[in-house]
Amino acid sequence: MDLRQWMARFSELVTVGAERLTRLDSEIGDGDHGSNLDRGMRAAVAALDADLPPGKVLMTAGRTLVSKTGGASGPLYGTALRRAGKALGDASEVSAEELGGALRAALDGIRELGKAEEGDKTMIDAWTPAVAAYEAAAGEGFTAAARAALDAAEKGAEATVPLQARKGRASYLGPRSVGHLDPGAASTVLLFRALAETAES
Ligand code: ADP
Ligand code: MG
Repeated sequence: MDLRQWMARFSELVTVGAERLTRLDSEIGDGDHGSNLDRGMRAAVAALDADLPPGKVLMTAGRTLVSKTGGASGPLYGTALRRAGKALGDASEVSAEELGGALRAALDGIRELGKAEEGDKTMIDAWTPAVAAYEAAAGEGFTAAARAALDAAEKGAEATVPLQARKGRASYLGPRSVGHLDPGAASTVLLFRALAETAES
């Protein structure tokens, strides 16, 4: 599994989806999620030298995201990727199971930093089922695990629509946040779509 390709594909999907992410964020936030993440991921991919081991790929991408991305999502995604990279250590190859451990560490990092629970209408609502689905299918290999994670992330993101936001800027809207897809959950789907496409390629 080429994790540099994963990051590059995520960046491409964010570029293509930036307008949509920003529109979602203008409905219940300040309208910067797409542009934030696009700028941050372009910088993150540019920082990835070709010879980095997988753990270093994610640590470098995460560190760059934290420093180059505005808003809440930069530190959250950045911490997630740094934690994932740390979990992989210095190994030159990653197994499907090891990537599952890294995804779990990433989710733990987001929860620690953002203090959000499932149901608060945040990226956690897509990440949590995605990581669980990945872990459950990891024994079947990267492709099956990443595909299962993507399906679960999509369902988790869709399930944020009827929720009222309890964390982040959207929570300032109170009941008016109901009826909108959470932008961070939408971008999390892109992260797992990029993983599934990388696994298949
Ligand atoms: P900001 O809200 O600072 O403008 P972004 O627009 O880039 O930052 O990102 C907003 C997204 O960040 C939300 O849609 C939500 O998914 C996620 N988010 C915000 N606060 C938290 C939190 N405390 N925990 C987890 N995710 C959060
Ligand atoms: Mg925003």
